[in-house]
Amino acid sequence: RKRNPGELEFHQAVEEVAMSLMPFIIDNPKYMQAQLLERLTEPDRVIIFRVCWQDDQGNIRTNRGYRVQFSNCIGPYKGGLRFHPSVSLSILKFLGFEQIFKNSLTTLPLGGGKGGANFNPKGKSDGEVMRFCQSFMTELSRHIGADIDIPAGDIGVGAREIGFLYGQFKRLNNRHTGAITGKGFNYGGSRMRPEATGYGCVYMMREVLSHAGDDLDRKTCLVSGSGNVAQFCAEKLIQLGAKVLTMSDSSGTIYDPEGINEDKLAWIKDLKNIRRGRIAEYAKQYPLAQFLEGKRPWSIPADLAFPCATQNEIEAPDAKALIANSCHAICEGANMPSTKEAIDLLQAAKIIFVPGKAANAGGVAVSGLEMTQNSMRIHWSAEEVDQRLLGIMQNIHQKCVQYGTEDDYIDYVKGANIAAFSKIADTMLAYGVV
Ligand code: NDP
Repeated sequence: RKRNPGELEFHQAVEEVAMSLMPFIIDNPKYMQAQLLERLTEPDRVIIFRVCWQDDQGNIRTNRGYRVQFSNCIGPYKGGLRFHPSVSLSILKFLGFEQIFKNSLTTLPLGGGKGGANFNPKGKSDGEVMRFCQSFMTELSRHIGADIDIPAGDIGVGAREIGFLYGQFKRLNNRHTGAITGKGFNYGGSRMRPEATGYGCVYMMREVLSHAGDDLDRKTCLVSGSGNVAQFCAEKLIQLGAKVLTMSDSSGTIYDPEGINEDKLAWIKDLKNIRRGRIAEYAKQYPLAQFLEGKRPWSIPADLAFPCATQNEIEAPDAKALIANSCHAICEGANMPSTKEAIDLLQAAKIIFVPGKAANAGGVAVSGLEMTQNSMRIHWSAEEVDQRLLGIMQNIHQKCVQYGTEDDYIDYVKGANIAAFSKIADTMLAYGVV
């Protein structure tokens, strides 16, 4: 905390990992002596840069861009770019730190990084977003590359932004390499990358339920968010026979007691991805649904919960509501959507809780598969990528069970942290003091 004053989100992420790893590290003195956890909490480097661009009225605007290259211990730096007004060094360091562990869990050779800018794409024209992305990439391109650091999307960085970013990268480098993932299929993207995080999260929930002798059929589900992860989480839940009751955005939650079906989800995708509207409009389109202004979904009774919007969206009172309503299991589609207090309450109540680094690893896993396809200059079919994604999620589940089983409860936080850490730790020991 002294070394990183005021970086609250970063402290939160490190505390969660350190608390669950400490008994394991104490049992393994070689990790303790080498000060591995302390070394891992210091990024390899942080790049901070000015991003100037011109808005449609001709005004010069200035934002701050970042890339946190956290650890390339087991592969090149890999992690998304976030464009959101709340972006700060603390948020990107928490995301980059989490990414090291998540990427280790995928079994692919990927290090951890994260980047972005305090730029708000909301309300900006396509031309403004393009000029921002080009200016951002003009600096970032000096620091990334297919074997160095491979950014992808995150909040506020979807298909449109990745197109502008990659177009500028290619122009500056005169090379068509897999230096960014999440690309459009026509220019090197992978089938199933848009779906991967949301689908992977549902595959994880299916594994969790199956391990407990249960399944997804007719389970009622709370989904938060209505962006990339939330849309495909809801899509896979509907395909597998579950009932999605809610979705949300930063203005509130829509609650549809009849369930969001495929047609309604297609309407939401059009609203969010094409018309760039607010989720409140859903209640006007489907009058049986309610719009709960300024509210999160967690007080609505349901079997399962999928937080897929942003960090710290499940706080202690939300956890208490989920417990009171006998919610059975939670899979985190977003990164660190639950506070430490909320996780402690949920685990004490023996609710199955799968942290983001395990449950949302499907996105970066398919990004890793996009890198493989780019290197081989081929495209795999959607079925092939989906099968590989499923296999990776099953493998992560099995690792969590292996390291996290305690009597009658599986501590997925502990399981995920130990499985991810062991691989990184042994590699760090192999490198010596670097
Ligand atoms: P999108 O930008 O596509 O969607 C984000 C969604 O979250 C929007 O509905 C947005 O609402 C909502 N949201 C954002 N900030 C807040 C807030 N402060 N309060 C309430 N709602 C908010 O992002 P993604 O779907 O890509 O990412 C969602 C989460 O998943 C993030 O935590 C991200 O780090 C994580 N993740 C994403 C991966 C990916 O492949 N995309 C991979 C792994 C993790 P609004 O439109 O009102 O802002």
